[in-house]
Amino acid sequence: MAAVDEVVHRGRYAPSPTGRLHLGNARTALLAWLYTRQQGGRFVLRIEDNDFTRSRPEFEQRVYRDLRWMGLDWDEGPDVGGPYGPYRQSERVELYARESARLDTFACVCTRRELRASARRSPGGEVIYPGTCRQRPVEPGRPAALRWRAPPGVVQVDDLVHGPAAAVDDIARDVGDFILRRRDGVWAYQLAVVVDDAAMRITDVVRGDDLRFCTPRQVHLLRALGHPAPRYAHVPLIFGPDGQKLSKRHGAPDLSALREGGATPERTIAVLARSLGLLPDAVPAIPARALLARLPPVFRAPLVDRPLALAALR
Ligand SMILES: [Zn+2]
Repeated sequence: MAAVDEVVHRGRYAPSPTGRLHLGNARTALLAWLYTRQQGGRFVLRIEDNDFTRSRPEFEQRVYRDLRWMGLDWDEGPDVGGPYGPYRQSERVELYARESARLDTFACVCTRRELRASARRSPGGEVIYPGTCRQRPVEPGRPAALRWRAPPGVVQVDDLVHGPAAAVDDIARDVGDFILRRRDGVWAYQLAVVVDDAAMRITDVVRGDDLRFCTPRQVHLLRALGHPAPRYAHVPLIFGPDGQKLSKRHGAPDLSALREGGATPERTIAVLARSLGLLPDAVPAIPARALLARLPPVFRAPLVDRPLALAALR
């Protein structure tokens, strides 16, 4: 008899419903889905609407429609349920409170100006918290952020795309005591994402390269909470000719615009796959599912990152 808790590959795609999915989101979703399906794993769709000040139900509905249009499917998610739900972060706040209560935290009432005055910056230019409120008594009722008294240590993260030591932080020197809950009550991405990945038994995280820099602090949090860290693959973002993330400004349509404008998912999938070197230029259109049979395992060989052939979408 198979063990009940047999570890299977569990991948996920976790968009924030704060805008329309653009082609960069679509390419990341496609890679995450391909990788999970190739491994015979379970694919989880999680809606990261933890920031209730920016999330909108309308965008969540577009996520479902756009991903299904691409030919992607998922085994667990807000719309299909599953054993590790709820799959919307807005419905998981009690879990965030419970998990953060297991950590050594303190209330922080520093103003933005106070923080900006801090001389210490991370290699990425972020303010490193100077520790002002570590010993400062905070009167009850005063709005305060919640910070983690992060223990010192060096955290190194390997990556399926970038190789060993893809991200390294000396937590005390490069990160400091970071925020778990904002002053307005929004749980920080850093906490919500690790609590959810652990609770949903995610084994493999495929996401955009812009999140690579915060992976060491997430692994630090996971360890403090006693959870195993998943494998990570940080995949290239799509940039416009000006070096900024590809957007409408570059004349790039978002997924909803393509879908509603009569583009075909097969051409869209082919353009995305060709830009990663996964498909020869001679293939103008292919359903997502047909890619599965055709491709060698993704991340086994280095990813290619070529400009999108936007003209082929029209
Ligand atoms: Zn403070």
